[in-house]
Amino acid sequence: MSDLSYTNGHNRAWETYLAQIDRVTPYLGHLAEYIDTLKRPKRSLIVDVPIVMDDGSIQHFEGYRVQHNLSRGPGKGGIRYHPDVELNEVMALSAWMTIKTAVLNLPFGGAKGGVRVDPRKLSSRELERLTRRYTSEISHIIGPQKDIPAPDVGTNPHIMGWIMDTYSTVQGHTVTGVVTGKPVHLGGSLGRVKATGRGVFITGSQAAEKINLKLAGAKVAIQGFGNVGSEAAFLFAASESIVVSVQDHTGTIYNAQGIDLMRLRDHVNQHQGVGGFAGASAIEDEAFWSVNVDIIVPAALEGQITLERAEKIKAKLILEGANGPTYPEAEDKLIERGIVVVPDVVCNAGGVTVSYFEWVQDMASYFWTEDEINERLDKLMIQAINDVWNTASQNKCTLRTAAYILACERILTARKERGIFPG
Ligand code: NAD
Repeated sequence: MSDLSYTNGHNRAWETYLAQIDRVTPYLGHLAEYIDTLKRPKRSLIVDVPIVMDDGSIQHFEGYRVQHNLSRGPGKGGIRYHPDVELNEVMALSAWMTIKTAVLNLPFGGAKGGVRVDPRKLSSRELERLTRRYTSEISHIIGPQKDIPAPDVGTNPHIMGWIMDTYSTVQGHTVTGVVTGKPVHLGGSLGRVKATGRGVFITGSQAAEKINLKLAGAKVAIQGFGNVGSEAAFLFAASESIVVSVQDHTGTIYNAQGIDLMRLRDHVNQHQGVGGFAGASAIEDEAFWSVNVDIIVPAALEGQITLERAEKIKAKLILEGANGPTYPEAEDKLIERGIVVVPDVVCNAGGVTVSYFEWVQDMASYFWTEDEINERLDKLMIQAINDVWNTASQNKCTLRTAAYILACERILTARKERGIFPG
């Protein structure tokens, strides 16, 4: 175990990240001298977010913004609203952003933020007050050249609009580039909402081709039917794959003939979850991990694929739409069983890639068409997954370690060339 551990309970995300760093270190040659820079965040801010509730009472929420590494450019990473958010988790998510932006060779570092809150329990006015107060509390460390937030679990374009407006009000002028994933009429980019799911599909179809798995007729199970999971599901279905099982926080559904995704989307919009969907059978949540499928897409939260679940998974391909869904010991078991894992740091990088496009468009005040966005996204994602695949073949290592080799070489070379202030 590496030298810093912030684990305070159930969430092993930071520990998982440190284990991944320990695995890549032997491949880094002379750059390994700088590896400790990646084992700690550059800056961690914890903020108190008090708001007046609709009933007049005052409630306090805990918020975070962690900038893990800024060697290659401004921090980049989403903001999560979820009842389980804690520093350990935000640190790991920020570190995975450092790796992800470097794998895609985007000119950013890694950052992440979050508030420990169940957004479903707040009214729209309360959510707006929470977002604006949280933004004002972190406003001195974010900015288009410093750190650029984006949506994550529990946040959306609407919330990004409030962040942009609050930051702009404090600055005294409109600053569209402070946040990405905004509504399109506020300087958002076409294609951003669907970009992460699209990237999962693009990297997944490249990986499927390499292992001779035909998408037409392939059976797919998806955990999470939010932004990432639902878009990936629709794209797989459009390639004639059959989505047979979907799990979210309200339950797990299964239909061997394939789930009608349009109907499922309507149901989720009405009932806030897949539970109770009439077009499939409800199955035990744990049974999701042993359904007979070719591809599993975890697209919900981290820490989902445990050693026990890795032993019963039947799929040939795991596409990590979520960040950190697989524990290191579970990944070892999957690899031992010949199951290919396309790691989060490349698989779900479509979102940050189009966020980069959005930031570039905001800076230039010149906007691209959706076709241009998708064409550029596909090109970068195909390049990245192929680079990772080739690096894995050359080094006889997993795709995750290969992605970390590419990323760490870029980050640590930047670190080395910048030198250590004050010298
Ligand atoms: P979202 O809030 O839109 O959807 C989250 C989904 O996860 C929902 O369907 C929810 O029901 C499900 N879920 C929550 N708790 C669950 C549980 N305990 N068991 C099963 N399902 C559960 O979030 P999203 O934006 O789709 O993000 C999903 C994952 O993808 C996260 O790990 C996030 O960090 C990652 N990710 C998102 C983006 C992005 O652009 N949105 C980019 C990269 C990575």
